[in-house]
Amino acid sequence: MSRRTPLAGRLARLIADDGPLTVAAFMAEAVGHYYATREPFGTDGDFVTAPEVSQMFGEILGAWLLQAWLDAGKPTPVRLVELGPGRGTLAADIARTARLIPDLAAAATLHLVETSPRLRARQAHALAGATMRPQWHDRFDEVPRGHLLLVANEFFDALPIRQFVRGRGGWSERVVGLGADGELAFGIGAGTVPEGDLPAHAGAAPDGAVIEISPASAAVAETIAARIAADGGAALIVDYGHAEAGVGDTLQAIGRHRFADPLAAVGDVDLTAHVDFAALARAVRRGGAAAWGPMEQGAFLLAAGLLERAGRLGQGAGPSVREALSAAVERLAGPGQMGTLFKVLAVTPVGPAPALFAP
Ligand code: SAH
Repeated sequence: MSRRTPLAGRLARLIADDGPLTVAAFMAEAVGHYYATREPFGTDGDFVTAPEVSQMFGEILGAWLLQAWLDAGKPTPVRLVELGPGRGTLAADIARTARLIPDLAAAATLHLVETSPRLRARQAHALAGATMRPQWHDRFDEVPRGHLLLVANEFFDALPIRQFVRGRGGWSERVVGLGADGELAFGIGAGTVPEGDLPAHAGAAPDGAVIEISPASAAVAETIAARIAADGGAALIVDYGHAEAGVGDTLQAIGRHRFADPLAAVGDVDLTAHVDFAALARAVRRGGAAAWGPMEQGAFLLAAGLLERAGRLGQGAGPSVREALSAAVERLAGPGQMGTLFKVLAVTPVGPAPALFAP
């Protein structure tokens, strides 16, 4: 499916004039264009996310946040926030769950951090029936102060990463330049970066190894943590990735549920990278809050009562509904599926462990 998209053409002209782009700059362009123009979600789209698999996912995340609010002594006002809400399914499931506690529903305002105008419209549609009226923001730091209850599912994997390659003379930044044919091609940037600027595990990496960092992700995590440290609250960050980042190139493109070349069909396929949970946890601590986990998504959902919830929803239902529920449980929590690759990191003020995250 290699073809020159209009975005690839624009980036190629930019590179011809001004030189190569860092992987981070390339990723920001490609991801921004993708979410602004495409319909990524569902069986007709490019990929399926956990809230699109079943309402149980959002109900469980919502219930965990409600519990955190009760445990904190019901402080007000509450800012219920989602980063990167996609079609708005998770936000709608959480808003519905919040109605179980009328005090919370009365004290909370709903804030969606979303840059794509097209997806904002989808989210407005998904939340049209909800009692809470959403407010949209381009960035998390625009969300008004107040006790924070935040979720981010498959948000951090879309944020730009920088990549560095180990060569004989040291570490150089991986860039997107032009190949001999004039098309986009990966290359090595001029100059080297000191190893001290890279994560500790860079030290043992062999020649040719690729190391990734995501300053954009760390900045968001640190800001959320600082807000939680100052105003109280709790956050659940759910994504695919490793508890401890290793060495290797994890930049990946997905189109129509299949892996694609990251430099083919630029802007028309989804571009993500594995989330480095250890780096997120360090950023949270720098922000002055506590990071818990990450737990594997399957273990988290099962401990939170996924099977019981599926049982309740299946009560009195026919065989096809029950089959769909058990398929959803398998998809969300099964080891070969989302259960182990996806992880859940909790953020709270420094203090006792939140529910399910006992050390
Ligand atoms: N949470 C949803 C969708 C995940 S897709 C779900 O689980 O189904 C990623 C979402 O993040 C999209 O809504 C995308 O438009 C948004 N997004 C990506 N980069 C962003 C950025 N830098 N700032 C704000 N939103 C962003």
